[in-house]
Amino acid sequence: MPGLDPPAGLKPRRRGEGPGIHPLRKMMDCRVKRGNDEQNVFEDTTMTTHKLLLLPGDGIGPEVMAEVKRLIDWLSAKGITKFETEQGLVGGSAYDAHKVSITDDTMAKAKAADAVIFGAVGGPKWDSVPYEARPEAGLLRLRKDLGLFANLRPAVCYPALADASSLKREAVEGLDIMIVRELTGGVYFGEPKTITDLGNGQKRAIDTQVYDTYEIERIGRVAFDLARKRRNKVTSMEKRNVMKSGVLWNEVMTQVHAREYNDVTLEHQLADSGGMMLVKYPKQFDVIVTDNLFGDMLSDIAAMLTGSLGMLPSASLGEVDAKTKKRRALYEPVHGSAPDIAGRGLANPIAMLASFGMALRYSFDMGELADKLDAAIAAVLASGLRTADIKSEGSKGVSTTQMGEAILGELQKLHA
Ligand code: NAD
Repeated sequence: MPGLDPPAGLKPRRRGEGPGIHPLRKMMDCRVKRGNDEQNVFEDTTMTTHKLLLLPGDGIGPEVMAEVKRLIDWLSAKGITKFETEQGLVGGSAYDAHKVSITDDTMAKAKAADAVIFGAVGGPKWDSVPYEARPEAGLLRLRKDLGLFANLRPAVCYPALADASSLKREAVEGLDIMIVRELTGGVYFGEPKTITDLGNGQKRAIDTQVYDTYEIERIGRVAFDLARKRRNKVTSMEKRNVMKSGVLWNEVMTQVHAREYNDVTLEHQLADSGGMMLVKYPKQFDVIVTDNLFGDMLSDIAAMLTGSLGMLPSASLGEVDAKTKKRRALYEPVHGSAPDIAGRGLANPIAMLASFGMALRYSFDMGELADKLDAAIAAVLASGLRTADIKSEGSKGVSTTQMGEAILGELQKLHA
């Protein structure tokens, strides 16, 4: 699958696999190794211009996005790669300007971009806006209209942060799992979706869980392809004991595995016991694949294993276009707009920067550069710098900007 390489710096690879070497790279012929100079292997020698749409959003969104912009400026100034960036409004900021959470014009730009880099939306200021115009509706429209059916959430525990987890160090140190959540189907979108007044002082609420075979097959393939580049194991989670959609999910995963991926280990687990296992012995997992609802919850549980919401990146991917071979993609931190700390320089920019790292890896086939960015983040954490959310005794508290500058400084050293 195009560009589904994991970070080499942090991830154990299968035997015989070099870091970031991907068959597509040869075909794309836009990044070549100059002589024996490993440092330059990720340079974009033809200087392909990558089109990015930046949507900072609300609250801390613009603050953490500023650190991505700093990185983009450096990459362009150094001639490492070239980005053409546009910026748009989404969420509450779009509502304030246009009375919608995303305009058609911004949607068109998102469709035309090679990748959308998204900050966060929402906040109490917009609590009473009409439901259709609520800030989150902008994000849901992006996911739906771009067909982003696969949500990838890595949960990696940086050694320096093992003590920030609510679990014991030995349970999380070296943790490296990938949760693949189906994002456009299931109970969040299924019809009917209604609240009916029964007329006797009672109301009835209905949400509908629906999955078709093709939806399960395509998310399964994303998970299996990822596993092949990692530790070769997929755990599929559903509730086949009580849900028909779980029965189908289990059946289709088993068929896709037998037909196309029998070199990968497939395990099935009920989603509730999977949740238990995630907090008991998370290191048993490699890739977890699950539906929209369970994925929402399980990925938040996995998130907390690594310490803070401020550390967690994500990618949302669509189908590969048969003609262009490109995927529609949106990259965003897992966290929200954090209104409680917005505007105070307290936000941790790592989740946002690591989301941009996922864009380098999955949209632009720049796995080596993404590895270096991950290594720069690990080095800064190892040096003891911490934003407030991950502060511990003996570490040095820094602001959003200082953290962004320190990470860029490390990346510059790694690139020198
Ligand atoms: P949140 O993720 O914004 O914040 C939860 C807690 O984590 C807060 O204490 C916050 O200060 C902290 N936090 C989050 N990101 C941080 C970071 N980068 N650095 C340091 N600390 C960080 O979740 P919430 O408080 O439940 O929601 C706030 C708003 O964000 C709501 O309007 C919600 O709807 C919205 N939201 C948006 C998204 C999104 O845009 N994808 C996701 C979740 C929530």
